[in-house]
Formats: sequence, structure tokens, C-alpha cells
Amino acid sequence: MHRNENERPRTLGDLTWHNHAACRSAPHDRTDPDLFFPEPDEMDRIRAAKALCAQCSVRTTCLDAALENGDRDGVRGGMTEEERAPLHRNLQHRLSYARVNAALAGQDVHLTQAERAAVVRAAYQTGTPAEHLARLLKCTKEHAQKLYRHTRRQLRNRAFAQQQAADEGNKDKKNSKSRTRALKEPRTKGRSRDDLGTAA
Ligand code: SF4
Repeated sequence: MHRNENERPRTLGDLTWHNHAACRSAPHDRTDPDLFFPEPDEMDRIRAAKALCAQCSVRTTCLDAALENGDRDGVRGGMTEEERAPLHRNLQHRLSYARVNAALAGQDVHLTQAERAAVVRAAYQTGTPAEHLARLLKCTKEHAQKLYRHTRRQLRNRAFAQQQAADEGNKDKKNSKSRTRALKEPRTKGRSRDDLGTAA
């Protein structure tokens, strides 16, 4: 059965998805494992492996697992190792709210640094006790309290920076209005006719 993998990220250590892998060899239908480790120029093998991945119901989970486990070799989740390389490099920047929500709901999922910070922020903003955050992140209560202190500082600094930006913006608007007003004022104001000179 095909499930919506984006809604429910893989739980750490869960290998049950292997049972649904299209590349899993069955006694009546043996898949050549070498097919998934082609050389970059072996286009036929790459195409054949990708065709199998395209009909695999656990393709997203397979790709996630490869990224999260640092599995850089071979075709995984329909991508060759060359195609997957940038995803491996950028994994630390991933911010998936499906994972953040899953972690907040108590699911043991892989979190990047950005996702972990988002969990702490959401927990802080909803008044989650530090003990509970510690359970969610599998850390000590002291460490959870430290994370809360750090988040509090961050949010305070951000609010301060936003206020400053807003004040600057208002100041700029005011200055620009006074400049416009000054430009609109008649140049002759306060001068005598003699001051203006004459073209004649
Ligand atoms: S996506 Fe491809 S490599 Fe991954 S389990 Fe499915 S068939 Fe195998």
C-alpha cells in the first residue's frame, strides 16, 4: 500500500520499509544488486535502476534514509550518487515542518540542526516544560533549560532588531516626507523681486 511519506517521516531505526522496496530480491524475481551501483557512464544500468525506483512505493523514505545515514554510494530513491551529492552536502540546511511536528508529537525522527532549533522554538513558545523537551530531544533537563535560555535570547534579539528596523523605516519615511514638502515650497518665498534677477 502506498502511504503519504511526507506526512509521516521515517522513525529512526525503522527498517520495515525495506519490506516494500521494489529492488528487494524475491525468490521468483531476483534483482541484480550490482544494478544499483553503476559507473557514471553506464547509462543502461542507470536507466534500469531508476525505472525500478520509479515504481517503488518507498522511494521517498529510501532517499531520506540514504541522506540521513550518509549513504552516498549507488542509486537510492531514484537518484545516482552524483545526483545525490548536493543533497548530502545541503542536508544540514533541511527544514521540514513534517519532521518538526513529528518530533513535537513524540516521534523519534532524524532532525537536522535547523529542525532541532525549530522544535525548541515551538516548544518554548507553547510553554512546554523543559522536562518534556528533554524527553523529545533525548537530552538532559539541564540541557533543555539551556536550549530554552538560548532560544529566549534569540527571540528577544530578533524582536529588538525588528523594532529597530521599523523605527529606522519610520524615520526614513518622515525625512522623505519633509524633503518632498521642502521641494514643493515656492522658491520665491521670502525673497524680493530684486533677489530673483532678470533675464533682460
Ligand atoms: S527507491 Fe530504488 S533503491 Fe530505494 S528501495 Fe526503492 S527500488 Fe530500492
